[in-house]
Amino acid sequence: MSEKTKAGYVAIIGKPNVGKSTLLNAILGAKLSIVTPKPQTTRKRVLGIYSDNKTQIIFLDTPGILAPKYKMQSVMMDYVNSSINEADCIIYMFDVSKYRRQNVINDNVKNILNKIHYSANKKIICLLNKLDLLKNVKEVLPIIAAMDSLNLFTDIIPISALKKNNIKNIIKTISNYIPDAKFYYDADMLSTQPEKFFVSEIIRENIFYMYGDEIPYSTEVDIIEFKEREYGKCYINSEIIIEKTSQKGIIIGKNGDKLKALMERSRIAIEEHLKTGVYLEVFVKVRPKWRDNVTFLKSFGY
Ligand code: GDP
Ligand code: MG
Repeated sequence: MSEKTKAGYVAIIGKPNVGKSTLLNAILGAKLSIVTPKPQTTRKRVLGIYSDNKTQIIFLDTPGILAPKYKMQSVMMDYVNSSINEADCIIYMFDVSKYRRQNVINDNVKNILNKIHYSANKKIICLLNKLDLLKNVKEVLPIIAAMDSLNLFTDIIPISALKKNNIKNIIKTISNYIPDAKFYYDADMLSTQPEKFFVSEIIRENIFYMYGDEIPYSTEVDIIEFKEREYGKCYINSEIIIEKTSQKGIIIGKNGDKLKALMERSRIAIEEHLKTGVYLEVFVKVRPKWRDNVTFLKSFGY
């Protein structure tokens, strides 16, 4: 008989930009979830799977918690809620550099945490992230005290997801709260998302890096074709969906320079991810108000 194993689901929640995707990547040691300096880059749930000899933790990375402004954002909040329902325990992540003495957690977030703690009766681990941004580590002490006084968390752990500090401690703590169970997935599996998903995420990440203001928020990337060719190269045909004709010029740039640069950067990153040569095509399409259109949202998998 083999040793007893533990397995369970953990949802990572928190405001946009606190470092949820960075944490997932640090834990899995691979780049599963896109990370950029702008808020709200994670729109869909990314499932990452951590396995060691005894423990399997399936992470649900969620879009940041926010009050819905458009239809897309309310769909995003549904993802947050369904991740919470599926989870055995919850990680609430907080950015210590954003700490203000008053109102340490806003009411919207507090409501969600209260629901998890009192109605769903699930354990919540609080991660105080970006410890490296504090001038003095001691500055974390009043934050720990403030979080502790909420009586919502079983554990409060200061970490730096970026510097990969205290990551092992997180795994150990989670394993206290997940049930004895057989592994749900093969131990060598990192994710259940298809490669196509990561390819569109990589292109979207590069759009976030290359374009300012509203552009990244009004674009979506759709993979039309993804074919592995016999002679080794992968053929990928993609569409960038934008909302207004006026944005087309911005995306394409003078003489198509900007789009060429985007394709080049994206191709290199995709090749690195897939570990194979890639032939990448990118087209730009205008779909007015796609963010408010349920049919479009469905066709993009939201
Ligand atoms: P998410 O929206 O919660 O998924 O946040 P991301 O993981 O995309 O991170 C948002 C930004 O915060 C990125 O620029 C990250 O590099 C940065 N970040 C994440 N964790 C840390 C950390 O521990 N320290 C510092 N200094 N920056 C971090
Ligand atoms: Mg994210």
